[in-house]
Amino acid sequence: MNVKNIKSFIEFYKFLGITDCVLQYPRIQLTSGLKIKSTSDLNRASKENRKKIRSMIQKLDGLKSEIKELDCNLKEVATNLVFSDGNHKSKIMILGEAPGANEDIEGKPFVGDAGKLLDKMLNYIGLNRKNFYISNIVFWRPPGNRTPNEKEISTCLPMTKKHIRLIKPRLLIFVGSIAAKSLLSSKDGITKLRGKEHFYIDDEINLKIPARAIFHPAYLFRNPIEKKRTWEDLLEIDEHIKKEGILKNE
Ligand code: URA
Repeated sequence: MNVKNIKSFIEFYKFLGITDCVLQYPRIQLTSGLKIKSTSDLNRASKENRKKIRSMIQKLDGLKSEIKELDCNLKEVATNLVFSDGNHKSKIMILGEAPGANEDIEGKPFVGDAGKLLDKMLNYIGLNRKNFYISNIVFWRPPGNRTPNEKEISTCLPMTKKHIRLIKPRLLIFVGSIAAKSLLSSKDGITKLRGKEHFYIDDEINLKIPARAIFHPAYLFRNPIEKKRTWEDLLEIDEHIKKEGILKNE
């Protein structure tokens, strides 16, 4: 690590609320995610844009209705369907695994402790819920926060494919092993998938989207040492976003 990197690494730790030393459990400053309200969105936009936004909102509502009809056992035990948060016009789409307890109550992805840590990490490279869009590959909380099983994942996956087709992101960020493996059709775990360039491929419509995989924040709580590799991954993602001009006009 050179001096410039050390400085940036220390800044990253400070950003996460770690000021003195690396503790076993990171201190997190709780901040809540911001949500673009579709009505204020509409007020600001031109007539043409208003039409586009309205049509997108309708399509997303349509997808949500389709998800409600899925034959998924998790529906029976969950409180809420957890669909998405953030800016649906963004070209950066973030996909996690499945809702946890807080998400189940609020009906929004990544609002619990893991979500707050994820927000902090992404804030470090200038990303927030005004300039990214976020969802999960499974739409209901698995009981006791267990990992969703193959059947639950494969039931929800066609809806995630549709979701990606609607948003048409220029960059996909998969949070954690389950999302990364499922969407990259890989058997490799997150340790192998992170830190590399990937493409999400949708053969049916000839779609190829650059993708990255990062450690799940819940994993980082258990393995704080891996924050260093996450910091490296975030810097690479930031470089990619800048090089490709993905946040321009946002
Ligand atoms: N973990 C996830 O993968 N998704 C959430 O929404 C919350 C926690």
